[in-house]
Amino acid sequence: MFNIENLLRQNIKKLIPYSSARDDFKGEAKVFLDANENSLGSPLMKWYNRYPDPHQWKLKEAIGKIKGVPVANIFLGNGSDECIDILFRAFCEPGKDNVIINPPTYGMYEVSANINDVEVRRATLLDDFQLDLVHLETLVDEHTKIIWICSPNNPTANSMNREDVETVLNNFNGLVVIDEAYINFSRHRSFIQELGEYPNLIVMQTLSKAWGLAGLRLGMSFAAEPIIDVYNKVKPPYNIGQATQDLALKALEEVVQVNDMIRALVMMRDELKESLSALPVVKKVYPSDANFLLVKVVDAKAVYDFLLEKEIVVRDRSRVELCADCLRITVGTEKENKELITALEQF
Ligand SMILES: *Cc1c(COP(=O)(O)O)cnc(C)c1O
Repeated sequence: MFNIENLLRQNIKKLIPYSSARDDFKGEAKVFLDANENSLGSPLMKWYNRYPDPHQWKLKEAIGKIKGVPVANIFLGNGSDECIDILFRAFCEPGKDNVIINPPTYGMYEVSANINDVEVRRATLLDDFQLDLVHLETLVDEHTKIIWICSPNNPTANSMNREDVETVLNNFNGLVVIDEAYINFSRHRSFIQELGEYPNLIVMQTLSKAWGLAGLRLGMSFAAEPIIDVYNKVKPPYNIGQATQDLALKALEEVVQVNDMIRALVMMRDELKESLSALPVVKKVYPSDANFLLVKVVDAKAVYDFLLEKEIVVRDRSRVELCADCLRITVGTEKENKELITALEQF
């Protein structure tokens, strides 16, 4: 059975969290002399002299409406990076616990594990880039706290089979994180509506990709309340600045525009796939549920350098397992995609 108490680190169980001035007093008052802010104001807008809402209630309400998730099941981080790091710090005892990743996958799970001195076990994906459940199962022991699943996966661009993910959720008593950074570009359903079914499920999304706000740094975690409580206990009190809260709230009003961009990007992705597939230098373009393509070429290093000469930067993934001679290419604007194709025609 899943029991969050058995997963938490001892120091976190015992932790008395920081109580900010704005935690002590909630509500409206005439005079705020409780937080040592600058009472005279700021060089920017009037309210930036004040500490931001540590719980980002307004922003969470707006996100909750769009995602169909209660506010109590939402945590917001300074990018997904913070959502990832807090899980290691709260649940993984350095030098003792371990987590499992399914490479090739997003690099931050492993980096964050290394920063926190937590062992990483690797269940390499199968040749079709799906989860290797047999291998995965052999890696789990009593110290395994988290299984990281990225779907759609970076850099392979595919979604994981839903039944496989459900098998992991049903059989693993630790936390299962599904990183859905690219879900808006996918044909597949999010796991966000499954939160009620699985007390061990954490779904991560971000404003960095489909929402076009990588510069803002806003990551979202969706989970059952006991997990969200842990996040809130461990996070820095004011982890989301007022400027980010203001701008994100404004952006979230533009769902229609964002959906238009998503549709356009998906169409352009499929066109780019066609154009790339027709080039002699391209051996294979893998199916994509994301806003990028994994492309196998004749000689990744040479093609990468050739493109750099032409001031076109792509991501060389050729040293990554299962990705020999592969480049990861983000879908650009119509003009950028044309420039890429024209350059590759000259290789
Ligand atoms: C881009 C990306 C993210 C986004 O990270 P942020 O810190 O929110 O910008 C998360 N997960 C994966 C797999 C990504 O590729």
